[in-house]
Amino acid sequence: AKESGRNTLSFYLPSMNERALERMALLDAMRNAMSAGQFELHYQPQVDLASGAVIGMEALIRWRHPRMGALGPDRFIALAEETGLIVPLGTWVLRAACAQAAAWQRNGLGALRIAVNLSSRQFKDAGLPQLIADILHETGLPAASLEIELTESLMMEDADTAVATMRALKRMGVHLSIDDFGTGYSSLSYLKRFPVDVLKIDQSFVRDIGHDANSAAMVAAMISLSHELGLRVIAEGVETRAQWDYLLGRGCDEIQGYYFSRPLCGSEFERLVRERGNV
Ligand code: C2E
Ligand code: CA
Ligand code: CA
Ligand code: CA
Repeated sequence: AKESGRNTLSFYLPSMNERALERMALLDAMRNAMSAGQFELHYQPQVDLASGAVIGMEALIRWRHPRMGALGPDRFIALAEETGLIVPLGTWVLRAACAQAAAWQRNGLGALRIAVNLSSRQFKDAGLPQLIADILHETGLPAASLEIELTESLMMEDADTAVATMRALKRMGVHLSIDDFGTGYSSLSYLKRFPVDVLKIDQSFVRDIGHDANSAAMVAAMISLSHELGLRVIAEGVETRAQWDYLLGRGCDEIQGYYFSRPLCGSEFERLVRERGNV
């Protein structure tokens, strides 16, 4: 028993250490990655369904790791959140996104709107409205061209403070959207309470439009509900023509998804907008 106990232990500990080491290495690399300029933003077009024009884009972070290659946010955002590194990283994202959108507006790409994801730590920071005001001022991006994406769970963590922060952002003219709508809890009560402009239907509902009548019905209901409440509605994760047609038929305002385009690097995005037309 002693023998097997030691074996279990010697098998188990190194693997735990490996994971811990891997985390530490990633964290260490992440700290340097900011100053080394290894983070970059990709942009996924948001398309007006009725006209087919690109009217905005969502900024999505990527990490060009020198050895591991391009890493998606699912590989490092959670760790950045746990360690607080998300605050400086998120500030970098906000500044880079606003600067890029302002540059595209100046260069004749149209009044494109940029959507930026915010993590809970950033949203809870009391200095957030001022930070955003400073970045808008610095970059020259009109406040109405910035859309902040918040998740349901983030808003529910401390609802009273969330409402106050959201009002401060709204007063500046910044737009607010609910990301991944339908995947959190108490999805309906807070729609009355939180001053949002846009609802983004989560891709899990959109994915099943063609196969599952209930998902399709829920998507239709979310579109109606949004419009009844005076909100704009975006469907995420649109991959097929059938999904596109269904959403168009139901009066969905905008779509985002691989059917139109994957997230693109800056120069690819610019080329696409110049070729396919914009606002
Ligand atoms: P999200 O905000 O829900 O972003 C949409 C994700 O869906 C993106 O993944 C996008 O590439 C992917 N996507 C877009 N169209 C389609 C489609 O048609 N089919 C499928 N299957 N997927 C599609 P990505 O870029 O890997 O980002 C994952 C998540 O990481 C984001 O989910 C967001 O929660 C987070 N994230 C990304 N950038 C940032 C950031 O700058 N800050 C923070 N805090 N989180 C970020
Ligand atoms: Ca998002
Ligand atoms: Ca989403
Ligand atoms: Ca998501």
